Amino acid sequence: MNIANILTRTAIFFPDAVAVVEGERNITYKQFDQESGRIAAALTQAGIRPGDHVALCAPNSYAWLAFYFGVIKAGAVAVTVASLLKKQELHPIIDDCQPKIIFTWDEKLEDLEEIRDRDYLRFIVSKSEENTFEGLLGKGHSNFKTIDRDRKDTAAVLYTGGTTGTSKGVLLSHENLQTSVHNVAFSERSVHTDRALCFLPLNHVFAQVHIMGSTVFSGGTLIVQPSFDMDKLLYAVEHLGATKVYSVPTVYIRLLALDDLEQRFASVRYCMSAAATMAAELVKAWKGRTGLDIHEAYGMTESAAMVTFNHYYRHVVGSVGTPPNLVEVQIRDLDGNILPTGQEGEICICGPNIMKGYLGKPEETAASFWGPWFKSGDIGLLDDDGYLYIVDRLKDLIITGGENVYPREIEELLYAREEVQECAVVGLSDKEYGERVVATIVPKEKQKVDPQAIKTFLKEQLASYKVPKAYIELEEMPKSNTGKILKREIKKHLAKTET
Ligand code: ATP
Ligand code: MG
Repeated sequence: MNIANILTRTAIFFPDAVAVVEGERNITYKQFDQESGRIAAALTQAGIRPGDHVALCAPNSYAWLAFYFGVIKAGAVAVTVASLLKKQELHPIIDDCQPKIIFTWDEKLEDLEEIRDRDYLRFIVSKSEENTFEGLLGKGHSNFKTIDRDRKDTAAVLYTGGTTGTSKGVLLSHENLQTSVHNVAFSERSVHTDRALCFLPLNHVFAQVHIMGSTVFSGGTLIVQPSFDMDKLLYAVEHLGATKVYSVPTVYIRLLALDDLEQRFASVRYCMSAAATMAAELVKAWKGRTGLDIHEAYGMTESAAMVTFNHYYRHVVGSVGTPPNLVEVQIRDLDGNILPTGQEGEICICGPNIMKGYLGKPEETAASFWGPWFKSGDIGLLDDDGYLYIVDRLKDLIITGGENVYPREIEELLYAREEVQECAVVGLSDKEYGERVVATIVPKEKQKVDPQAIKTFLKEQLASYKVPKAYIELEEMPKSNTGKILKREIKKHLAKTET
């Protein structure tokens, strides 16, 4: 098998259908399939062999997509790296995955200068390099036959978000990706008439599997944009007929501020959010304005994305849904004992979507499994219907005076307040309590944070040990490339300002 066959098969079914919209350009499935085949041929000619690592470090584009499928068709491993990483973040990752070729963009060349002489690296592909995407297209012949791989062979290495620490390379097999692509396409009822907007970075599992994988598998159209841009997003929904919008909570918050949201989103049939907690208040507000649910799914790099999803016809606000075909979820305590329904514990996952392991990290791989069950590092609970509720990340849990406090519970309440645009509750180390609860808030435009008023409001609804001791106004939240709030950065910042 080879996961790239999803593209070839779709090109057989719908050769002339538009696979990719990039700016003014429309690329058909036939062209996409043929050009990725040419890239595979050119890579093979350049000495790339099955199992070799080839990195992609560039913003979303048609070339990125064709190169990605080219690498995988050649039997090699596509290592997808965030294009926005700074030099000091990028070098350790490149040295970690040791690619033979790096596909990048000219803006990154300066950052790569110091490592371009590494023994493992043969050449860099970029506009102003000797090897360009177009050059490789010209070199590769058009009748390349995709290399067959074992289902357990690695197809891609994706780096985790780096939200809780250094990001790790996750080895995903052809089977891992195939399982998730199929499950996502089913859960979203993806069809060939869909037009999916993709501005989230393709290097990350969410865009790569949820948006790209499921769209290519179903024969829909990908509207690719290099990054989030509000005007371009609105152009895509109003003028390019986007039917599916994938985003993260912060973007939905900004969209809700538009007066004419209803009209602008008239062509959209499906909205989705993942990667971070979506406050129930937001989902309700969105439904009230657009009539659309924001479907929430739950997943991680290690599970090739989808672990659970909200069923198209039974969307339970506040829950991340139930597991799809072949995927199982259990809640366990920290000693690995399985907990009954309704009890909080670590979400553990088993199925053909679960990664082979972390690249070059056998100890960390071993430590993240109970047998075949992957330990997600997230706390959650299951209800009687098997719907999963995320409580929080294990690493974000605050222990204050011996009591457990889940920041998300407090954040949900804060989001219900008029003046709160974004918030994050963190634990700061405290001599007396071990940790003390602190709320950070970005207020909406022209609004102010009144600590006393918020405290009074929270006191009415929470046990006193959960009520934050301090309320700090921030101009903006530090975020990762995938739009997640970086609590470790907030803690660092607060620790500094306090001393
Ligand atoms: P790192 O593992 O490097 O700290 P990360 O966990 O953010 O980074 P990803 O694999 O990109 O890296 O993200 C997966 C995590 O995102 C999940 O483990 C979970 O904590 C969070 N997440 C994903 N979907 C949701 C969701 N719907 N609601 C809440 N949290 C979610
Ligand atoms: Mg993680």
